[in-house]
Amino acid sequence: MASVREQIEELRSKLNQYNYQYYVEAQPVVSDYEYDTLLRQLQQLEAENPEFFDPASPTQRVGSDLANSFSSVAHRFPMLSLSNTYSLDELKEFVERVEREVEGVEFVCELKFDGTAISLTYEHGRLTRAVTRGDGVRGDDVTANVRTIRSVPLVLQGEGWPDYFEMRGEVLMPHASFERLNRERAEAGENLFANPRNAAAGTIKLQNSAEVARRGLDCYLYYMAGEGLPYENHWDNLQAARSWGFKISDRMQMCRSWAEISAYITRTDTERKELPYDTDGAVIKVNDYLMQRKLGSTAKAPRWAVAYKFKAEQALTRLLSVDFQVGRTGAITPVANLDPVQLAGTVVKRASIHNADQIALLDLRIGDMVYVEKGGEIIPKITAVELSERQEGSEPLQYIDRCPECGTPLVRIEGEAKHYCPNQMGCVPQIVGRIIHFISRKAMNIEGIGEETAELLYKSGLVKNVADLYGLQPAMVAALPRMGQKSAENIMHQLAASRQVPFERVLFALGIRFVGETTAKYLAGHFGSLDAIMNASEEQLAEADEVGEKIAQSIVAYFADEDNRQIVERLRSEGLQFEVAQKNLLSNSLEGLSFVISGSFERHSRDELKALIESHGGRNLAAVSGATNYLLAGDKIGPAKLQKATKLGVEIISEEQFEAMIGDAEPLPPTTTATQESAEVEQTAEQPTPQPAATQGSLF
Ligand code: NAD
Repeated sequence: MASVREQIEELRSKLNQYNYQYYVEAQPVVSDYEYDTLLRQLQQLEAENPEFFDPASPTQRVGSDLANSFSSVAHRFPMLSLSNTYSLDELKEFVERVEREVEGVEFVCELKFDGTAISLTYEHGRLTRAVTRGDGVRGDDVTANVRTIRSVPLVLQGEGWPDYFEMRGEVLMPHASFERLNRERAEAGENLFANPRNAAAGTIKLQNSAEVARRGLDCYLYYMAGEGLPYENHWDNLQAARSWGFKISDRMQMCRSWAEISAYITRTDTERKELPYDTDGAVIKVNDYLMQRKLGSTAKAPRWAVAYKFKAEQALTRLLSVDFQVGRTGAITPVANLDPVQLAGTVVKRASIHNADQIALLDLRIGDMVYVEKGGEIIPKITAVELSERQEGSEPLQYIDRCPECGTPLVRIEGEAKHYCPNQMGCVPQIVGRIIHFISRKAMNIEGIGEETAELLYKSGLVKNVADLYGLQPAMVAALPRMGQKSAENIMHQLAASRQVPFERVLFALGIRFVGETTAKYLAGHFGSLDAIMNASEEQLAEADEVGEKIAQSIVAYFADEDNRQIVERLRSEGLQFEVAQKNLLSNSLEGLSFVISGSFERHSRDELKALIESHGGRNLAAVSGATNYLLAGDKIGPAKLQKATKLGVEIISEEQFEAMIGDAEPLPPTTTATQESAEVEQTAEQPTPQPAATQGSLF
């Protein structure tokens, strides 16, 4: 038996690891319930053994989302978490404690939105800064990203707002946006977000605001902080905030007794299932500010509020078998076949298990009774095994080591969760999957060939790879079962038309692992042509927005493959678009020059500057390297960038110097249309960002 000290240390180290995966990587590995249970165990051990107190313990600190790539800003008042409970009895104890400490108390009951916390600063009615909770003391400045959220007012309406105040609330991703995003990621072979909360947390930390805008976030506000607020209580201030244009939930309720609170909770737990976004509980807050101050707060959470968390809905059923599916990129996905069971209004027969690690972590065995949960995910997942019902003599489920389709030994790339079948050119679901991807609507859009026809074309030997599509003759197609002259001609017509599909979609259609629709757009915008991408090194590829090491490696590996190169060359000779169409340039004064932008600027947002660089013929790079000509430096520029630029002799220029560079440029006559990316940048470009004054506010 481990000593108390060892148990405490083990729990702390586990929880720190889970915190990192949850807050920084936005990829949790255990359920919230499991995390909270471990945290409770640690709290109890620490309370019983005060000699092991440590201010750095996860029980004493707010979980941190701070990332290196943003400038961090101090919160004037700490941005705390909430204490939480899954038990109605404990909630009742909270209410009774408060009623003992303050007289005549009113409680405001609210939804607990399942997103990521944000603090918005308004000065003279304008949004000047948006900061994440960070570690509660400092947060990341994500103003440019938050400005793209349509429900966040940039300028307030009505009257009565203080000159300077903060609104705190939750950035969340509605179900519709989440499902679209995960569908796109699945198509690109990228890791899926586990749930909308993680997707919102990951999105708000993106470097590219145009991509944030595209992902469709939303934001509810639930707390006002500052001096000279209109009222001395929470409820009235939130009503005032609504009149100024903030999105305030209309599912708040004022409660004066435990009976009212528990009725609110029961009703909410049913009604929330109809909402278009995730909620994971209810928050109960003392309304009056004077009473709030009297009750005070701990280092981690206020003592005048508590979260009651709903356990995710679960069903218990039997695991009948596991199928191993092969995707078009060769990735293997285990899928569980279950005894059909009712869960949150639907009958569940299958559940995802993600990968081999998950099977080992759960110690899954065929015949086990398993818990399945639906938490905003597209398909439900297995979260635990009911060990008390395990059948005697059951054996741990063995992960396959050969491809279930072609028998090739599977490989697992270091650091990746999935196994792959490397037999790209000979494994049928991969080949057919690539053809289906190539002709899909968002790629080459050859509607006449559906999934079945694609399979038929492959099996009949007419199309062995995507380049063969362009060698099809009407008579060959017409001779296929269920095809006639008319459908064959239609397909021919669509194939001919696909020669005009823009380059970014051709790049997506190639089906390079991790290169989804959006990444293809960024790559096309950054490099301009397929040749430039094919000749780029991993390092150069990673200079494009949203392209990390993993994507860069995958692109290099794709073009290093002789078979792929042959297909690409055949597509080139068929006349597909291998270059971006000319952009609508304002001038070519920055032609051949590349820029890295860092810091905040007085007259332009970073997105505006990026758009200006592109519209004058220059290129934007994400990181300083030997290929950078200028570092455009604003206030609070990242010290690492500055250091690197100085070391590499990259010229550092100010906003004024940059304006001078483009100022006298002769406008060029308009040519073809601008890319979608710069159109998005235009849409999201905002007013200049003045520096905020000191913050007065508190809590959450
Ligand atoms: P939390 O999410 O349980 O509660 C606090 C947060 O609730 C606030 O910061 C705020 O963002 C949010 N909130 C939503 N609606 C609100 C409202 N109406 N009023 C006030 N606040 C509202 O706490 P947390 O500190 O963000 O996260 C801790 C929790 O996260 C843990 O208890 C655990 O459930 C989960 N977690 C899970 C893992 C994991 O690996 N699964 C790891 C770390 C944390």
